[in-house]
Amino acid sequence: MNQVLVLNSGSSSIKYQLLDMADRSRLAVGIVERIGEPGGSASDHAAAMQVVLGELAGTLDRSALAAVGHRVVHGGDRFRGPTLITDEVCAAIKELIPLAPLHNPANLMLIEVARKTLPDTPQVAVFDTAFHQTLPAAAHTYAVPAAWREDLGVRRYGFHGTSHQYVSRRAAALLGRRPEEVNMIVLHLGNGASACAVREGRSVDTSMGMTPLEGLIMGTRSGDLDPAVCAYIARRTGRGAEEIDLTLNKSSGLLALGGSNDLRDVEAAAAKGDANAQLALDAYCYRIRKYIGSYLAALGRVDAVVFTAGVGENSATVRAGAVAGLEHLGISISAKRNTADSKEERYISPYWAETAVLVVPTDEEIEIAGQALALVGGEPAAHTSP
Ligand code: ADP
Repeated sequence: MNQVLVLNSGSSSIKYQLLDMADRSRLAVGIVERIGEPGGSASDHAAAMQVVLGELAGTLDRSALAAVGHRVVHGGDRFRGPTLITDEVCAAIKELIPLAPLHNPANLMLIEVARKTLPDTPQVAVFDTAFHQTLPAAAHTYAVPAAWREDLGVRRYGFHGTSHQYVSRRAAALLGRRPEEVNMIVLHLGNGASACAVREGRSVDTSMGMTPLEGLIMGTRSGDLDPAVCAYIARRTGRGAEEIDLTLNKSSGLLALGGSNDLRDVEAAAAKGDANAQLALDAYCYRIRKYIGSYLAALGRVDAVVFTAGVGENSATVRAGAVAGLEHLGISISAKRNTADSKEERYISPYWAETAVLVVPTDEEIEIAGQALALVGGEPAAHTSP
């Protein structure tokens, strides 16, 4: 019983990976896109699941399938770890829909389909918020009226938890230490981006908030913003809350400043002298630097700053820009190590540095599979930290 099927569903797509956790190999990786769209290969999530199973025919061994691991975006303050899916858990994920109106319904739809399609296999929910449930109240509390906090769930939840958890554990291993022995700042820089302060293996602060909009500048999200901007734009333009929310989530960030949500395009344009692209890059790096500074203050002692995800793993320019000027705080990188062509877990700080600066490729699917398998008793939890 070593196989785990990891499912990650969006409103119009399903990403899947079939993993053999005996040797952590990937048996199959795929995506079904354009669900419900004209010309797509599936009319709904149930049909898409059949496409997934069709693509897995010959690879998926039902007798060896230990669990299905579902990525679920929002677990509110209810889910602190991987959870065996029952009717009650589905009901709870449904109750959390107001907090994640785009993501949780899509996750739930696939969970329901998968439970019907693979009724004999335990289904496990792994929440993007769970790792951040260890945030102290001082870090997760917004200074807003009690009715908002208590009745409406307004607080910081944080996201990318699965990635921060995986990357911080791997980073500790790279340092030759146990996670409980180290403090670090993890920078997950992908399309979405978030920073996480990890103290002795536990998340104590993170830059995304009640929703993934807060914090760093992202591909299409603004990140931090004076909340009064929303009311101002509403008054000046007559736009409603939904439209403003959509603009801040889908038409802001690097896209708004530099003309593309893909950092590679922004870097290329900046290199050609495009002033807007240069500003986008400068603002992007400056925001990261500010978070490094505040998490240094939050943690007191920092053993490592860790870069991960598409941008963090690949952009030497962003890594250099993010830590520029922090030498006096013990954080610096070696230009040679930073620009070396590598996909491996590695140091980019010079050998003499006080604080290690690392690049650690993330792997959310392995983390989800490991947590799901550990929960159903396949292997001890330590299984996910080779
Ligand atoms: P997601 O958040 O969707 O999982 P990724 O972690 O794959 O996204 O990150 C995607 C982003 O990574 C892209 O938008 C792109 O800007 C950036 N990226 C990928 N490769 C490179 C590269 N070689 N140089 C700079 N940026 C890159």
